[in-house]
Amino acid sequence: MPGHVFGRTTKGVLPVAARGEGCYIIDSSGKRYLDGSGGAAVSCLGHSDAGLRAALHAQLDALAFAHTGFFTSEPAESLADALAAHAPEGIERVYLVSGGSEAVEAAIKLARQYFLEIGQPQRHRVIARRQSYHGNTLGALAAGGNAWRRAQFAPLLVETSHIAPCYEYRDRQEDETQEAYGQRAADELEAEIRRLGPETVMAFIAEPVVGATAGAVPAVPGYLKRIRQICDRHGVLLILDEVMCGMGRTGHLFACEEDGVAPDMITIAKGLGAGYQPVGALLASGRIYGAIAAGSGFFQHGHTYMGHAMAAAAAGAVLDAILGRGLLARVREQGAKLDAALRAEFGQHPHVGDIRGRGLFRGIELVEDRAGKTPFDPARKLHAQIKKLAFEAGLICYPMGGTIDGQRGDHILLAPPFIIE
Ligand code: PLP
Repeated sequence: MPGHVFGRTTKGVLPVAARGEGCYIIDSSGKRYLDGSGGAAVSCLGHSDAGLRAALHAQLDALAFAHTGFFTSEPAESLADALAAHAPEGIERVYLVSGGSEAVEAAIKLARQYFLEIGQPQRHRVIARRQSYHGNTLGALAAGGNAWRRAQFAPLLVETSHIAPCYEYRDRQEDETQEAYGQRAADELEAEIRRLGPETVMAFIAEPVVGATAGAVPAVPGYLKRIRQICDRHGVLLILDEVMCGMGRTGHLFACEEDGVAPDMITIAKGLGAGYQPVGALLASGRIYGAIAAGSGFFQHGHTYMGHAMAAAAAGAVLDAILGRGLLARVREQGAKLDAALRAEFGQHPHVGDIRGRGLFRGIELVEDRAGKTPFDPARKLHAQIKKLAFEAGLICYPMGGTIDGQRGDHILLAPPFIIE
């Protein structure tokens, strides 16, 4: 199956998953692996969660229909209500999709449609950050900060420019306070909006905690608030991509809650279905929805499985579990323990430059030389080695990095299930 599992051929290369038990996956030979990455921050309830399985069985038994199309369903309606009820201030509307890329794609289209509805058709540009990842559909890929990937599809992409992300370990100067660094990083956004012409910019998209490309790097305190003010000053919509860091992974249902920032749109996916169903959502402000409702009345994005009842039932059960079983507090507690353990074990390691993250979303920055923050030599094929050794030892972790947008950075991402002991 070329193309499956991150674009690689799978047969004979990857172990075959046979079953799951809590935080463990057992392969077809009977070997047990501790799931330290939750399938890239997806399996927040672990594997084989009894409550979730029961909810899915109940929904399957209750389904007296297969696919509805022109109807809505009780699970889809109650999921949307529950997400809206717990979303940051001003976020009132929920649009269900099938995954993270599609949520980002829909966000970009909704931004464009919003400006058309309010009579600002010249706003079409997106600003994103270098070394970010927002998905693989054309809009999401345009927003992603990987220049090499974008170059191949350049003629097909939404016009997007990229500013530097806020990577404290790599970028903050010795003599710079955290606050000054956050200010400098945010200033880049304002400079870019001015350079492009504010009247042409529709949205800025960023992850509150950068996941796949950076290894759980939270924005420095104050950065997102400044970004919010800059967007407001120039009439630019703020999209926070919480596909990876949302749904409780940081110890808050939405990562941006910790920063006290309410965006105009939030995208979520991964943890929303907890791995049981492909599902995502775009959450949008009442203001955006109001403009569309008062205008054409129809958001021009749709697909066959939107609001699918089984996917919505899974997501509803995940949300109930996170909120009803006190998992947010647990994520904060276990996250603090994991952080302390990582620091105790690797804090002085010569090749560990930084340990960071929030909740059960942790990153370990790997460097050749800690003092000089020298990145690893690519010839050493670090990721492959770590992955292989960890797999042999029965641990699934998520080594990532390499050279993205001219900057080299290697890290291990840890995103275990919330039930980890
Ligand atoms: N946005 C972020 C921040 C992600 O990490 C990802 C996937 O890793 C996506 C979007 C794309 O999500 P999906 O793979 O579900 O399409």
